[in-house]
Amino acid sequence: MGGFLVGTLVMLAIRRQSEPSSAPDAPPEDTLSPGVASLLAVLPSSAVVLDREDRVLRASSAARAYGLVRGDNLISAELLALARKVRRDGEIREGEIETSGRKFGQESTSFAVRVAPLGSNGQVLVLAEDQTDRLRVEAVRRDFVANVSHELKTPVGALSLLAETIQDAADDPEAVTRFAGRMQHEAARLTYLIQDLITLSRIQGAEEIPTPEPVPVDEAVHEAIDRCSTKAASKDITLVAGGTGGLNIWGDDELLVTALRNLIDNAVAYSPEHTRVVVSARPAGDSVEISVSDQGIGIPENAQERIFERFFRVDAARSRSTGGTGLGLAIVKHVAVAHGGEVSVWSKEGSGSTFTLRLPAFGGVAVATPRTTSTPLEAAT
Ligand code: ADP
Repeated sequence: MGGFLVGTLVMLAIRRQSEPSSAPDAPPEDTLSPGVASLLAVLPSSAVVLDREDRVLRASSAARAYGLVRGDNLISAELLALARKVRRDGEIREGEIETSGRKFGQESTSFAVRVAPLGSNGQVLVLAEDQTDRLRVEAVRRDFVANVSHELKTPVGALSLLAETIQDAADDPEAVTRFAGRMQHEAARLTYLIQDLITLSRIQGAEEIPTPEPVPVDEAVHEAIDRCSTKAASKDITLVAGGTGGLNIWGDDELLVTALRNLIDNAVAYSPEHTRVVVSARPAGDSVEISVSDQGIGIPENAQERIFERFFRVDAARSRSTGGTGLGLAIVKHVAVAHGGEVSVWSKEGSGSTFTLRLPAFGGVAVATPRTTSTPLEAAT
């Protein structure tokens, strides 16, 4: 929108220049005064000047790239109608238009436009600002807020119902105990959701890690395994750390543990009892690859692209029953991006899944450094 502000200032300047007092110096009707031409050249937005016959007298390269202008014609009929109105009554007008012009693969482009008279010889200036990205971001934000509200409403609704039920069952201690347990479960779900939302907004806020440091991968893996061990033990799932020891990434240890914990948590949640989850690190050029493999239910191929979206779940009921918030993989993806790395998935339904984090190695090349303490590589619960 900064460009639009510049546009407004330019319009004021142009207006002043073309007021009646300066009429004797006005340029011929089919040319632009040099001042206006150089002003248009520095404008970031698409700018078009039409002559009194609606022919394009000047168009910035952006206006042509967006397909607003072809040859000496303004393509949008809507914009042309606006320009004619402005020429008739001399009033500056603003509006929004949508064009099918393709730029950088966009299907259609939404513009905020501002149209003003340019001098007294029927010329009209059209400024158009691409607002497709802004509208998309707004739509994503609206969606997110709607999703969060929905996700919060479910446990809060359950808590309220359970509280009522407990009130009615006041003289049945067994029922009170049972419902109180379910209240605890719903409260825990609410806590996880809020924690994940805080983590997500914290990582999304930072485009990149503010103070990267060398992070020993073994320590992060062991810490993440530690935090998931109770849940794994309850399903008799063995957690194993393996691969190359002594690797270091360049980043943030807390974020790395958060990402690994989410991946291991999922591996446990979506695996049957008595299986194994393996966390393995290996050098890969200037990066370190850390993978988490399970022998679980796997992910259908058509869902694999979407699982990193916020609140996307293959099976919503299953995710809820395991305490999932639908935000775990979105957090993992943001951690990877914040490190300048990436996360990928391989999965086969019924066989299992492997998630691989690829993160920059400390020092620009992945080498195993001897450890000062003897951390065991195999850690089974
Ligand atoms: P959730 O809190 O629901 O687990 P995530 O963002 O962590 O949310 O994961 C999104 C969805 O991806 C899950 O609901 C699940 O359907 C699928 N998923 C993630 N990890 C695995 C896995 N290791 N095995 C099978 N499905 C998985």
